[in-house]
Amino acid sequence: MEQEKKASALLSLTYVPDMPYDYHAGFYYSKFLKELRDNKRIIGVKCPGCRRVYVPPRIVCRDCFVTMEEFTEVGDEGTLLAFTVTNFPYTDTTTGEPKRIPYTAAYIRLDGADSNIVHCLDETDEKRIAAGMRVRAVFSEDRTGDYFHDIDHFAIIGSGDVKSASGS
Ligand SMILES: [Zn+2]
Repeated sequence: MEQEKKASALLSLTYVPDMPYDYHAGFYYSKFLKELRDNKRIIGVKCPGCRRVYVPPRIVCRDCFVTMEEFTEVGDEGTLLAFTVTNFPYTDTTTGEPKRIPYTAAYIRLDGADSNIVHCLDETDEKRIAAGMRVRAVFSEDRTGDYFHDIDHFAIIGSGDVKSASGS
């Protein structure tokens, strides 16, 4: 009985710690981020076996299992492969702030690359977006070494080989 009284008397408090942190991006991804920040260049790495170009660069080819060391620049233009327009509010996981909506996530194959990247489009009207459209990276002027900041967004520059008008 006495213990029950003590248990119900326990207090709790909420504490949100301020815990900023950094993580090491690794040599390959650091090189990719530095090229973006310092030179507005998008680089990948070429496999010595299958000649596939990976963007962003990674150490080992997923098919050949060999180390890749030939860094190569790819285009800042590419083809939109898929997209989705988000219209509901959510938290930006990179900032912790509410995301500005609508937001168009884009799956893009850059010219000269054999892998795809994820970024965003400035166009948010899904009726005006289609897989196959040509897009170009628009770089931020105050680049800091952050992929989603240093490439501000991708802009549609042409209809390309449009296959379908639906994508969301
Ligand atoms: Zn390979």
